[in-house]
Amino acid sequence: DLFVPVVFFLGACFVLLVGILSLQTAIDVRRLATLEQENITDPLMRIYNRRYLDRRLVDEERRALRYELPLSALMIDIDHFKAINDAHGHQIGDAILHNLGKLIVHTVRNTDIVARYGGEEILIVAPNTPVGTAARLADRLRLAVENAVLATDIVEGKKKTVRVTVSIGVAYLGQDVHDVRALLQVADKAMYRAKQEGRNRVAINN
Ligand code: GH3
Ligand code: MG
Ligand code: MG
Repeated sequence: DLFVPVVFFLGACFVLLVGILSLQTAIDVRRLATLEQENITDPLMRIYNRRYLDRRLVDEERRALRYELPLSALMIDIDHFKAINDAHGHQIGDAILHNLGKLIVHTVRNTDIVARYGGEEILIVAPNTPVGTAARLADRLRLAVENAVLATDIVEGKKKTVRVTVSIGVAYLGQDVHDVRALLQVADKAMYRAKQEGRNRVAINN
């Protein structure tokens, strides 16, 4: 008499077990995806980190050379950031970095790679982008940063907006620049030229 109910009961137990196992698998997969994302993200700026950047640079170099596609890079550095930290504190400095990351990500194409290159240096790799387009992007970014309020501070009981400017060096594959190593070197050099020429400006290698 009990045979049928027992079979049904065991069947129900089996279904429950399978349900629990698949739920656990779904949780594990989500945890893995989160870990993977964290592994390639800068925690403060919420943009890619150096690890991911180095990997993508190799891929993008290969793609650009193989299919003869243009490839540009923008090296961005905050102007007088040490002085901003000294005047407002590191917490405000960190808030500026966080909001700058957001602003840049919103300004570029979603095919562009935005990564934290160093302390307050950001590199944008723009695949399939000729130097003219990259230069226009750089100027749009420079202007957007100049006009943005990236943090607010309380000075003597009053709210005060904190703004920064950036200097940007633009470089592209071609002429004497044959690989991404040289591309970054040249972008860095252009950025330093932008600093020397007065900051809050864009310089292009040539
Ligand atoms: P320049 O216009 O020549 O670039 O001047 P600068 O002061 O920005 O340049 P410098 O390289 O001398 O200083 C960079 C500063 O960036 C030093 C450090 O205080 C600040 N910085 C780097 N990383 C962080 C960070 O994660 N948080 C904060 N708050 N500041 C940072
Ligand atoms: Mg710097
Ligand atoms: Mg700086």
